[in-house]
Amino acid sequence: MTAARSRYVRIAVPEERPGERVVDFREVLHSYTRAEAMLEAQRCLQCALPFCVEACPITQDCRGYVGLVAEGRFDEAAHLILRENPLASTLCKVCYHYCEDACVMKGRGVPIAIRHLKRASLEFGASGLEYVPGAPRQQRVAVIGAGPAGIMAAWELCLRGYSVTVFEKQSAVGGQAGAIPHYRMPHHELLIDLQRFRNFDLTFVTGRTAGVDFTPRSLLAEGYRAVFVAIGASKAGYPGIPGEHLSGVLPALEFLYDVNQGRPVVLGERVVVVGGGDVAVDSVRTARRLSPSASVTMAYRRTRGESPAGEEEIRETEPERIDFHWLLSPVRIVGTDRVEGIVFQKMELASPDASGRRAVRPVDGAFVTLEADTVIMAVGEKADLTGFDPEIGLKIGNKGWPEGGRPGYATDVEGVFAAGGRSVVHAMAAGTRAAQSIDAYLAAKEGRPVAPRPDPFGAGEPPPAVPVGYSGPVWKP
Ligand SMILES: Cc1cc2nc3c(=O)[nH]c(=O)nc-3n(C[C@H](O)[C@H](O)[C@H](O)COP(=O)(O)OP(=O)(O)OC[C@H]3O[C@@H](n4cnc5c(N)ncnc54)[C@H](O)[C@@H]3O)c2cc1C
Ligand code: SF4
Ligand code: SF4
Repeated sequence: MTAARSRYVRIAVPEERPGERVVDFREVLHSYTRAEAMLEAQRCLQCALPFCVEACPITQDCRGYVGLVAEGRFDEAAHLILRENPLASTLCKVCYHYCEDACVMKGRGVPIAIRHLKRASLEFGASGLEYVPGAPRQQRVAVIGAGPAGIMAAWELCLRGYSVTVFEKQSAVGGQAGAIPHYRMPHHELLIDLQRFRNFDLTFVTGRTAGVDFTPRSLLAEGYRAVFVAIGASKAGYPGIPGEHLSGVLPALEFLYDVNQGRPVVLGERVVVVGGGDVAVDSVRTARRLSPSASVTMAYRRTRGESPAGEEEIRETEPERIDFHWLLSPVRIVGTDRVEGIVFQKMELASPDASGRRAVRPVDGAFVTLEADTVIMAVGEKADLTGFDPEIGLKIGNKGWPEGGRPGYATDVEGVFAAGGRSVVHAMAAGTRAAQSIDAYLAAKEGRPVAPRPDPFGAGEPPPAVPVGYSGPVWKP
């Protein structure tokens, strides 16, 4: 192979062998060595127009850190990453790397392994940095929900000198990121990220539920100057079919949280997961690891090409002894005391719908029954707004999480904002924008100008908001 041609071939990311990795929750992907990371980074063209950066919801200067890794400057790469990405240890394992989809090398071969180079930067560079709080404003802001959106907002607000309290209904922080299985992201990554927050005036209050223990309005009455509602979509969705509440039917999110937190989960020998997104894929892979001898099946109502799960995720799953059934829509769960099987209607592809996505329609009279002693429902989640004042005007829409309907994620109640996101980095982007709106709202009340985000490590000058050549975001919330 010539040197020029090798530019189009990615340095392979080391991984555990399929037969060995499914017996426990060991991490599947391993880090590059320093030398491998430098070689991979040297493939980057250092484009004048950084499409990779424009595709990143938090405008991470990935072109910049990839360039530093190419020269072996890992400390500077880590510094650059952490300057704009406070959940980098988490994202280097789980981000869906929108940057790589936009990388110009994708059109010529394989995109630069930008996410994996983030991991190498943090592993080989000096990543044990600490954030420096902004000059204290003596003003309290409350955040409801300790997921990525809430944590990112807290980071932005603390850098701007606010005192922040994050209220979380669970006993642990992290939100849905806490349900991501440990074979993809070991539990400690989020804690490593939060260690860098330790100098902030930031308090996490766990085990407190908005709508039960307090409300956004009661927090305002207590003296918080603004409230950010970042409660995500934590309530399990069900397809609304007979038998769905039989014993042996488990909601996917609860199942994954329980496994991650070491709570006992008993699976049968025939596990069927209903759904086609990443949560469904995580559920089948987790079931395989919990019960190595069981038959594990994933059934989805559309085709593999239409599945919302990433192609990379499905490809990684295939060698793990999972049966995939496409074009099956659940109609009934059968069983007396507990689940014994699940009946599906066969589907076929129809013309594309308004969004361009191929629609599906039932095949008349065509049904199939899969035997099952455990059914895991991974058909989506939505926010639980029980106890929230309807006057706030929180909108859930088809996204599942509530969002303020006014500019800057403001809700109908002054001082209350709400947002979330469809991935960790999208939620972080939403958290940033909500925090910036909160800062602008409080600045306007006090008649002070809005300032840019200060340098997170306390240097005098704020860092550049966007790198050279950046022309605008190319991603959607
Ligand atoms: C199994 C699984 C795997 C995933 N894998 C990936 C992945 O690999 N990469 C990726 O980018 N994204 C992934 N995601 C999606 C990602 O985790 C979410 O998009 C992201 O966490 C959303 O962040 P958020 O802060 O908006 O909401 P959440 O993460 O849902 O956080 C909301 C928080 O609010 C709390 N809360 C809810 N109601 C209340 C209340 N009334 N009072 C107080 N607290 C409340 C919740 O307990 C939760 O901690 C995955 C999701 C799941 C479920
Ligand atoms: S945060 Fe995600 S999208 Fe952004 S540069 Fe890193 S891997 Fe890419
Ligand atoms: S688009 Fe790809 S090749 Fe260009 S700067 Fe970004 S990572 Fe490098």
